[in-house]
Amino acid sequence: MEDIQEEHDVFTLIDHSDPAYGKVVLVDWMLGNSCSYACSYCPKSLHDGSIKWQNIDDILSLYHQLQRHYVDERGKVVWLQFTGGEPTMHPRIMDLLRRASEHDFKVSLISNASRTLRFWEKINGCLNNIILTYHSEFAELDHFISVAKMMVDRISVQINVTMHPQSFNETLDAARALRAALPAATISLKPLRQEFGSDLYDYTDDQLRVLSKGLPTTRKPTGETPRSVMRTTTQSGKNETLRANEFILRGVNRWKGYKCNIGLESLRVKGNGIVHRGVCGVGGVLGNLGEEIHLPSEAIRCTRDHCSCLADILTRKEL
Ligand code: SF4
Ligand code: SF4
Repeated sequence: MEDIQEEHDVFTLIDHSDPAYGKVVLVDWMLGNSCSYACSYCPKSLHDGSIKWQNIDDILSLYHQLQRHYVDERGKVVWLQFTGGEPTMHPRIMDLLRRASEHDFKVSLISNASRTLRFWEKINGCLNNIILTYHSEFAELDHFISVAKMMVDRISVQINVTMHPQSFNETLDAARALRAALPAATISLKPLRQEFGSDLYDYTDDQLRVLSKGLPTTRKPTGETPRSVMRTTTQSGKNETLRANEFILRGVNRWKGYKCNIGLESLRVKGNGIVHRGVCGVGGVLGNLGEEIHLPSEAIRCTRDHCSCLADILTRKEL
């Protein structure tokens, strides 16, 4: 496989192909770890309710800090991406979304779509993008389609279908039904890793072929997303446009010593309230929810051997 960095034509710049994405501060925010499902492949710590839902006053206090630091002082666009557990189960989710809209923040949810249609009708107008995961052990196909249909002509709807090897064919049928019912949605077949770690479940060769081929795209997706592709420049002046996972597949996701914009274009709030610049944790703890957070004003030198999170990869880096 080609490895540009090994050939010494190293990247001097990795930047957003569209500069508008560089203005977005994407905040990956885990609100707690309670979930309406208990998928067999999901580590308990992601759904067992052992972390209390974050307090609304603490969350709103961070909204104010984000507004001041990123929007008022730096002209950025704050884009909140709530996860869990199942973030729609947060007891004050409606208020959290409404208050985010009042700040003019953009909002995404990563959800299993399990709540009622009535709930989704209420919050639909507050969302700018949604990532729905179809978990075949618990999801009801008709309900899932109805939830996605409500949004798909207004905002970008990305559907991930988790493909367990033991129920592969039934789940593939469900994925095809989603494809047929929702032509404007992006649908990905997701291979599962044991305990969400690095080892894949035991797939047959046929199953792996289906996973790598995926499902066809039927229509250009609607709406905006917080991130897109990156444009690279090498020492010899070559340019290329790459998706986040292409950096990983080619093994060119190594930027130790580069100046990186995590913390200027991203933030991570963990379920326990600890705030970092990004998923990689470079730069250490910026503070705890409920306190004044030391939000960054400068890029940071990377200290990691690999940049392995897709969200982290999609921030500007310069040699
Ligand atoms: S829906 Fe997501 S968080 Fe909930 S149990 Fe399944 S994988 Fe875990
Ligand atoms: S590991 Fe962190 S600091 Fe290093 S390049 Fe990736 S996002 Fe930036």
